[in-house]
Amino acid sequence: MAIALGATLASLLAGSFFPSSHVSSHAFPFLSFLKRETKVRDSYSPPVNALQFGRVSIARLDNFQQAIEQKQIQKEKRLIFDVPLSFQGTTIYDVELGSEQKYIALTFDDGPWPNYTEQVLDILKQNQVPGTFFWIGKHLKAFPEVAKKVVADGHAIANHTWSHHYHPVPREVAAREIEDTASLIYEITGVQTRIFRPPGGVLTNGLASYARSQNYLVAMWSSDAREASLPSLEQLINNVVNTARSGGIVLMHDGGGDRSVTVRALPTIIAALKQRQYQFLTLPELLELKERELQQPPETEPPAEVQTPKPDGIE
Ligand SMILES: [Zn+2]
Repeated sequence: MAIALGATLASLLAGSFFPSSHVSSHAFPFLSFLKRETKVRDSYSPPVNALQFGRVSIARLDNFQQAIEQKQIQKEKRLIFDVPLSFQGTTIYDVELGSEQKYIALTFDDGPWPNYTEQVLDILKQNQVPGTFFWIGKHLKAFPEVAKKVVADGHAIANHTWSHHYHPVPREVAAREIEDTASLIYEITGVQTRIFRPPGGVLTNGLASYARSQNYLVAMWSSDAREASLPSLEQLINNVVNTARSGGIVLMHDGGGDRSVTVRALPTIIAALKQRQYQFLTLPELLELKERELQQPPETEPPAEVQTPKPDGIE
């Protein structure tokens, strides 16, 4: 038995150096770290192979290395939702953009949640629209597999406390509510986020102030689907579309209860906003866009607003 296990270990170890190994990590979950190790090694092996084949210039290798690094950065970006310095410790309802192009961020609160979160993910995927999901810690604990799907689809993640209190809480409770949720988000998905939304949008019960003290951005909203008022399908669509504005943040819910009306409304909301020329960003992307505008003020004076009136009938 010991010999057989030793042989298996040896072949697994060998497998970790030869990526073509067919050894399945599922059969040996306790050795799964070896497979992860393999993946890291794989990502750096191509330059060595390229050297072995010769005829590869240093410049091309540099490009290749840059491409790998770029890929790594992009990969990390999907797991780290930091906020620009100027937004840390602040509260926002939207961002004011200078660009003519209209942008908007759809956000979904109170998940992860069975069925509804997945239906929202399907709709977002079909429409190639990114979302930002504000998770409740206790829901994440109950439905970790749903959470992993959200991250796998490339959406942004934010913190919405552990137990969704509205009432005032002492600082140590606020700390636990936010830090425990942050820890579980990292444990289950590897995501780190500095974006926070207080339950019910309550800014005065100690949760938002604790979040700001830890350099979180407190993200409120400028359009509200108002699911709590039990709107009809048409009302819910109008609640969002009629209040949409560029740089806006749309509040909807994918978890915490029956979200069937939201799910039915979402395709129409997306279509209506697209028809109004909106482009969709995650909330961190919206912040990044604003930050870029702040760092690069327009170089030229905007054109004078005075227009010469044209005589009627002449174009
Ligand atoms: Zn909530």
